[in-house]
Amino acid sequence: MSQISPRKLFITTALPYANGVFHIGHIMEYIQADIWVRHQRMQLGEDDRLYFVGADDVHGAPIMLKAEAEGLTPQELVVKIAATRPKCLNGFHISFDHWHSTDSPENVALSRDIYQRLKKGGLISNKTIEQFFDPVKNMFLPDRYIKGECPRCHAPDQYGDACEHCGAVYNATELISPYSTLSSAAPILKQSEHYFFRLSDPRCLEFLRDWIKGGRLQSEVENKIREWLGKDGEESKIVDWDISRDAPYFGIEIPDAPGKYFYVWLDAPIGYLASLKARLMQEGLTLEDFLSDPGIEQYHFIGKDIVYFHTLFWPAMLKFSGAPYHVPDNVFVHGFITFSGEKMSKSRGTGISPELYLDLGLNPEWLRYYLAAKLNDRVEDLDFNPDDFVARVNSDLIGKYVNIASRAAPFLKKHFDNKLGQDFAGLPVVREIREEAQTIIGLINKRQFSQAVRGIMEFADQVNAYWDQQAPWVLAKRFDVLSEAERTLLHNTCSVALEAFRLLSLYLKPILPRLVTDAERFLNIAPMCWRDAQAPLAAGHVINEYQHLMKRIDPKQIDQLLEAQQATMEQAGGEAKEKTEKQNSSRGGEKKTAEAKTAGVTTISADDFAKIDLRVGRIIHAEAVEGADKLLKIMVDLGEEKPRTVFAGIKSAYRPEQLIGRLTPVVANLAPRKMKFGVSEGMVLAASGSELGIYLLQPDSGAQPGMKIK
Ligand SMILES: [Zn+2]
Repeated sequence: MSQISPRKLFITTALPYANGVFHIGHIMEYIQADIWVRHQRMQLGEDDRLYFVGADDVHGAPIMLKAEAEGLTPQELVVKIAATRPKCLNGFHISFDHWHSTDSPENVALSRDIYQRLKKGGLISNKTIEQFFDPVKNMFLPDRYIKGECPRCHAPDQYGDACEHCGAVYNATELISPYSTLSSAAPILKQSEHYFFRLSDPRCLEFLRDWIKGGRLQSEVENKIREWLGKDGEESKIVDWDISRDAPYFGIEIPDAPGKYFYVWLDAPIGYLASLKARLMQEGLTLEDFLSDPGIEQYHFIGKDIVYFHTLFWPAMLKFSGAPYHVPDNVFVHGFITFSGEKMSKSRGTGISPELYLDLGLNPEWLRYYLAAKLNDRVEDLDFNPDDFVARVNSDLIGKYVNIASRAAPFLKKHFDNKLGQDFAGLPVVREIREEAQTIIGLINKRQFSQAVRGIMEFADQVNAYWDQQAPWVLAKRFDVLSEAERTLLHNTCSVALEAFRLLSLYLKPILPRLVTDAERFLNIAPMCWRDAQAPLAAGHVINEYQHLMKRIDPKQIDQLLEAQQATMEQAGGEAKEKTEKQNSSRGGEKKTAEAKTAGVTTISADDFAKIDLRVGRIIHAEAVEGADKLLKIMVDLGEEKPRTVFAGIKSAYRPEQLIGRLTPVVANLAPRKMKFGVSEGMVLAASGSELGIYLLQPDSGAQPGMKIK
């Protein structure tokens, strides 16, 4: 890390895609970056500048299609999503200096500028490629919008790039009977001219090999890049990057190429610069001046899934665009967050929603502390475990650290008028903690947050042990008859504890900005920065009255959070969940349980069965439900005045047009169920078992809509 004075820091987090609200993974990344940013701010000089910026990543086909399904323009959808951002960003105390959008004039201008510079440098080429095209929607189809039979294992309804059933990876053109998930039409192959960034150019490869030298990147990341670049003498696996998409596309039009747009991944990282530029403009500064400064340091926090974009394309694009563009000084990669050892899954209702967390009144700093206690500088997944969460916050953060202030403050108030002693700052316990300041600062600087937190909690243990050993309550009990020396001892014990509390607060400040602000108010001191480690509380300093700093977590609050999460998920697609559970229970060890359950099923009386009004229905219409992976919306004729609407979790097994005209049994007296996508007025019956697949039941031909099934 080169540190030229004055420093100019430019720090970003990955841009969230604007097709949904924040999930816990976003918040984890923001908290990680925010801790590091706050740490940097605590050591900046007057002439140094730091900008921590974010933005919504808004371009691309998924946003265009989602907006269309919601009856909005893409811009309207983007505005709607952007309006949800401040709640979590402010709620978790993420201290961004600016939040922008990739659909901004700054980003359009910067993206075109970078493209034109690369073109001038001979790093843009074009090539005609053949791609699937949806003749109904009139658009080229990204792989995720094409499905068909796996060419390897013949599983139906597999995506255009890989089979979820057998794991095979293939080209969309190899699928058997492919269809567009947008229109269900069979796609046709069509030619189109595409633009490429020539990442395989020897200049790029040479630059990247050089850029990763010197151990700047995390070793896991560096190894991965070396693999891509080809180790000594090996040929590189780097290929040119397709950076264009054809209209209709929500994006930035490529200069001199009507109907061609930049692929969203080209303009997304440029959005970092656009956000910085917009922020600088507010101060009357220019991006050019800022980036040209010799003191500039540029850092990006990202997840492990987007390493390829940020360590190959992004540095190469910036390098070959030339001055004033600045190649990143580093890219900090983190792993994913898991929940009790499992991948967080919305459909299974596991994990935690950051919005619900705030809505239920859980303290955001509990989460900041917990994540800090587990984060390090490696590309490792981090597990959120509810019991561990409660234990670390209650026993460590509150039981050890906050406890010091709540133990010492009452004695100081009662016997010394909240006034500190004269000669405590050099005593062993505080001296030792103060001498370790550089160690803690160094750990935070290296993003070794978990190690820093462990160190801080060890200090807290030492202070509590010192307190117990001094047993000031024994002296305080006979305060009126204490000798002068005994009074000084009692006074110093309280003062040592509070100076130690001040140091621990300082060390925790990047992690717990709100709590430490309250601690500073209690200690009656100005906001602290790192150099205050060496500035102990003054002799005779008067502190403020102690007020409770932080509540303990009631484990019930966690239960509430998890239940609320389940409820939201059920509302979002009950049948989708049922299907997932069926599939889960059909796997491996759980299979037996499912079978045992069937065998031991409780009997019901004929009267119980008669309560179910089963009718023959005819499906007269079926369509996919935008935003629901597993549901189809079906209109069923039951011989009534109006057809019924039923949402069924059978999308994985049936295309809408396959269903139209079919007869099916329907539970007609099921209470209507309000779902996110509308009201479901019945249930269609399907079979599923220990093998994958869903099989809709069908009465023999001749049955008529409305007939009762007995
Ligand atoms: Zn397969």
